[in-house]
Amino acid sequence: MTDTVPGPADLHTHSAVSDGTEDPRDLVASAAEAGLRTVALTDHDSTAGWEEASTAAREHGIALIPGMELSTRYGHRSVHLLAYLIDPADRALVDETARIRESRLTRAEHIVGNLGRDYPLTWEDVLAQTGDGATVGRPHIADALVARGIVADREEAFAGILHPSRGYVFPHYAPDPLTAVALVRAAGGVPVLAHPATRGRSGILPEGYIRELVDAGLAGVEVEHRENTSEGRQWLRDVARRLDLIMTGSSDYHGTGKPNRLGENVTDSDAVERIVAEGTGWSPVGI
Ligand code: AMP
Ligand code: ZN
Ligand code: FE
Ligand code: FE
Repeated sequence: MTDTVPGPADLHTHSAVSDGTEDPRDLVASAAEAGLRTVALTDHDSTAGWEEASTAAREHGIALIPGMELSTRYGHRSVHLLAYLIDPADRALVDETARIRESRLTRAEHIVGNLGRDYPLTWEDVLAQTGDGATVGRPHIADALVARGIVADREEAFAGILHPSRGYVFPHYAPDPLTAVALVRAAGGVPVLAHPATRGRSGILPEGYIRELVDAGLAGVEVEHRENTSEGRQWLRDVARRLDLIMTGSSDYHGTGKPNRLGENVTDSDAVERIVAEGTGWSPVGI
């Protein structure tokens, strides 16, 4: 349809502004090095990396779609919502993300308190792993456990000590997905459900609920993501066709924090074009 969007495009990455390991400028450099022509920065509940990433994108001559991965909750399930091209100064969204980050901080301190009863781990250990103002999460606690020699890597921490069944961790505050989709649209953004099929067909949001999300403004679903099951991807493609949703593919890169490699999944130019056309809160760089 168009060749105005430079491909290949990876629409889901994390920098050290949340739980990735590279600063935004280094992440953009890594994206250029990996052969990507378009990358989206989607830190958890934060837009603090946008400016640095935009400058780096101009320097490297690649396109940048500023975004965010907004935390939401559907019953007991954590649901992530990618939000592209939102107005980063939108009052309601700024207030909501501040509330989520605040709750993440309180929660992390409590989790460390729980862990401190059984392991030699302090809040200072976690702060040492967390960049100034970064959105804190379990990965930072995992890094502190690694630094203390309690586990070998994040993977081991998540599979063991930080698994909910072990009783140390608990959820943070998050709005429900319907509220979040409406917030993102009201901020001029384009909401796309992140990795919605990580637990196969049974773990997917009910189609009736996805229809409600579409009525509230949901624009797309992330189909190609390493944690979506193949059965789940097929179901998502069917739903996307029925509901005329944009289908994306992305790496969910976290630097060295996860095995996910930049560009391991990509989004086709038509889909990126639709996202750019619908986003009114902010402009992409280089498109
Ligand atoms: P939280 O936001 O505190 O609930 O932690 C969830 C974050 O941890 C997500 O951003 C995931 O990318 C990351 N995560 C989940 N499982 C793993 C894992 N096995 N290894 C590394 N990071 C993980
Ligand atoms: Zn993450
Ligand atoms: Fe996610
Ligand atoms: Fe992510």
